Amino acid sequence: MPGFEIFGDEERQQVQDVLDTGVLFRYGFEEKRQGHFKAAEFEQKLCEITGSRHAHLCSSGTAALCTALAACGVGAGDEVIIPPFTFVASFEAVIQVGATPVFCDIDETLCLDPDSLHGVISERARAVVPVHMCGSMARIDEIKAVCDQNGLLLIEDACQSLGATFKGKSLGTFGQAGCFSFDAVKTVTCGEGGGLITDSQEIYLKADQYADHGHDHLGGPDRGADGHPIIGTNFRISELNAAVGLAQLGKLDQIVAIQRKNKQAIKDAMIGLDGVTFRYLPDPTGDSATFLSFFLEDETRTREVAKALADNGVGCPYWYDNNWHYLRKWHHLKQLNGAGKLPFELTGQAPDYQNLELTASDDIMKRCLSMQIMLSWSDEEIENRIKAVLKAFKG
Ligand SMILES: *Cc1c(COP(=O)(O)O)cnc(C)c1O
Repeated sequence: MPGFEIFGDEERQQVQDVLDTGVLFRYGFEEKRQGHFKAAEFEQKLCEITGSRHAHLCSSGTAALCTALAACGVGAGDEVIIPPFTFVASFEAVIQVGATPVFCDIDETLCLDPDSLHGVISERARAVVPVHMCGSMARIDEIKAVCDQNGLLLIEDACQSLGATFKGKSLGTFGQAGCFSFDAVKTVTCGEGGGLITDSQEIYLKADQYADHGHDHLGGPDRGADGHPIIGTNFRISELNAAVGLAQLGKLDQIVAIQRKNKQAIKDAMIGLDGVTFRYLPDPTGDSATFLSFFLEDETRTREVAKALADNGVGCPYWYDNNWHYLRKWHHLKQLNGAGKLPFELTGQAPDYQNLELTASDDIMKRCLSMQIMLSWSDEEIENRIKAVLKAFKG
């Protein structure tokens, strides 16, 4: 997830365009901006890359998720099904729009398991938000089929997986909307930023309004003349951030190609290592290759290998112990520690997050390690890395 690794002259030039005019804002100032519309250009480029009809940029991936949920009509009283292996933003966004997160097990794709969905769909279920974790994909065609059968909205959290495809189609394009993040650790960075894509004109217009206080953007040069068809909020991106991302988007193909090459070298070296199996990739050719995720036999062995890898200078995240990416450590959610009362507490419908049974997810996460793939590795560094991994396994 290396956008931060490649900040260069292209990014500086894009930002300079914005600084030269002083128009740091995406809306208004038509005369002063000298034809620069960085956010709008970014959106157009995101459409080209993903093959989606519409895109709308937001101030973060979390804001994009909230906007997508709101624009799809998800709100108070609705349940939204999400996986327990994700970033906390997934449940935050659901709560933000007044809905209730409901957890569904993952499978060896490290993403939401379509076979487990049936067990968690209640009468109040409204949407499924699978998360394409660590650069690769869920069994998205099967998830879509379950959504269609049950009349559920499908909103993909592809925040970590820009540039990844399933059977040639960009992640984020399988349901009503898809979301991306451009924060500090993602494949492409804006500094801070996010975006949603959709083929629906209606969802796009709602998103465009929602993320800008409900502005319909029909009032012409005077923003004060805009109408406000819906209640919105401010999730606007700044032109400065969009400018950085625009330069980065131009490098996406190159980024993904390097990640794939670096990942393949290490994966090839690890094939056949005692007890190692790899994350299941429903379409290996579509992997954006930000991480190499693999499994060991059991928790004890995984902890042993994690320590050996770290001791040899090639530490890999053990998500099972991670505060931010797996439900096990989300004590703030389990204890319903909102800044104030959470929406679902009002109706007495707060789910019991303390006693969730997610045995299948626990079993998978206990045995999983992920190596982050960097762009900046030289051939020599990759060779040394492979040596260190092999040494760690020999113990
Ligand atoms: C990063 C991330 C987000 C949120 O993105 P921000 O831009 O940091 O708000 C949401 N979901 C997942 C899976 C992420 O990794």
